[in-house]
Amino acid sequence: MKAELITSVALAPDIRQFQFAVPEVAELKFHPGQFVSLSELFGEKKVTRAYSIASLPDGSKTFSICLNRVSDGIFSPHLFALKPGETVDMKGPLGVFVWKPERADSVMVATGTGIVPYRPMLIEALRQGATEKFTLIYGTRHPENLLYVDEFRALADQHLNFKFIPTVTRPTDAWTGETGRVQAHVLTAIGDRRDLHLYACGLKEMVDSVREIGKELGFDRKQIVFEKYD
Ligand SMILES: Cc1cc2nc3c(=O)[nH]c(=O)nc-3n(C[C@H](O)[C@H](O)[C@H](O)COP(=O)(O)OP(=O)(O)OC[C@H]3O[C@@H](n4cnc5c(N)ncnc54)[C@H](O)[C@@H]3O)c2cc1C
Repeated sequence: MKAELITSVALAPDIRQFQFAVPEVAELKFHPGQFVSLSELFGEKKVTRAYSIASLPDGSKTFSICLNRVSDGIFSPHLFALKPGETVDMKGPLGVFVWKPERADSVMVATGTGIVPYRPMLIEALRQGATEKFTLIYGTRHPENLLYVDEFRALADQHLNFKFIPTVTRPTDAWTGETGRVQAHVLTAIGDRRDLHLYACGLKEMVDSVREIGKELGFDRKQIVFEKYD
């Protein structure tokens, strides 16, 4: 399938959200949390990269992704240079990093653009009236790189069962929120609970470290759901 770029907007320095349409389908169906696989030929070489879907299924043929430009990367600079009307090959939606309504409270952890799949997942779950508790711990280096914070804060204001904990490792003087890496906040959020579901999404180092925390605390493998970006 081809995906055609409609618009792209800057969300933070070197982070953009891209909206695509898939002309050959009447409706793009997916589960919040899933990703698409995009490909392009670079000379003779076909390069394929996965991107979590940032938007909610809305009955249309469009979807959005959000990514940071990896300066020495191949595909992300290509997407940043793409112009509206240009296309990329696409497969999907794919993946099993989705919210399962199992009536278990969850601690969800993200760093960087690893926040992307949680956006549609949590908006949909809370809109559907999910009653379990969700704690979202979201870390970046700088406050300016925190994505979708206004939306998550508004969701937390509207839903008592959703707690949002953004944390930064390089706070500015104006920052009044949490600081430090996500891992410390994960331990606090888990506390004595061993009946939680643990979600982690982002680069390997963080995901592996959160999985290790879960294992050391005695969580079953089935309680830990993760998506690694590298
Ligand atoms: C299931 C899945 C979903 C993904 N969803 C997203 C998403 O929603 N948003 C997103 O930005 N990326 C996402 N990624 C990562 C994405 O597929 C690419 O790896 C990323 O855009 C870099 O590709 P590149 O060709 O520009 O760089 P490459 O040439 O492939 O890689 C250069 C280096 O960049 C590192 N890297 C990979 N991803 C990132 C990143 N996000 N930030 C910093 N360094 C990175 C790699 O470890 C590698 O060392 C996802 C990956 C997977 C497997």
